[in-house]
Amino acid sequence: MNIILIGPPGAGKGTQARILAFTRNMIQLSTGDMLRDARQSGTEMGNKVAAVMDAGELVTDEIVIGLIEEKLQGDNAGGFIFDGFPRTLAQADALGELLNKTGHTLDAVVEMRVDDEALVARITARSTCGDCGEVYNDQTKPIPEDGKCAKCGGTEFKRRADDNEESLRTRLMEYYKKTSPLIGYYHAKGDLRPVDGLGEIDEVAVRIAKVLD
Ligand code: AMP
Repeated sequence: MNIILIGPPGAGKGTQARILAFTRNMIQLSTGDMLRDARQSGTEMGNKVAAVMDAGELVTDEIVIGLIEEKLQGDNAGGFIFDGFPRTLAQADALGELLNKTGHTLDAVVEMRVDDEALVARITARSTCGDCGEVYNDQTKPIPEDGKCAKCGGTEFKRRADDNEESLRTRLMEYYKKTSPLIGYYHAKGDLRPVDGLGEIDEVAVRIAKVLD
């Protein structure tokens, strides 16, 4: 099964994609993570997109489509979860073509619905484990008191450079302007599965499982 998780920044796409990858042996393809890795390792492309990402704007379609194309060549185990891709109509068209070319189908597009106020609260409180990427939230899921990641025992936690109110405003605008039209696009194709993204992580995971099974 190949699925897309779509929703505004902070909707919980990454968290839910990790759960699906773990429980269903699927492969999480997060263009945000790929771009952050490219920056970290100082590749030419990583350096090129750094300022765009920090400002909260979208990097070019060409770059992200290239990243996804590379990943679709490999083994897909229980299927792919596209997390944060596609984000524009051009990316959605390119994904459709790539899936066709590689003999895959798109089975569902899960739209995670969360209102803007909750997004700001989530994003400004968010941190991740530097080793395994587990996501924490100062209010709802704080880093354990012993300072060790509950999942891997790592002791380094990071906040994303673009998780501040100013970048977030731009990221939300980019979402409503360029990404939200994809909801109509996938609705018209009959693939859309809206899910309430507010609530406990496990509750949302159950709602997603229900629309997929
Ligand atoms: P994310 O981790 O999905 O929130 O992505 C972080 C940032 O990476 C975004 O704000 C964009 O600058 C960039 N990015 C990630 N995925 C895409 C995409 N599919 N298209 C364009 N830019 C992207």
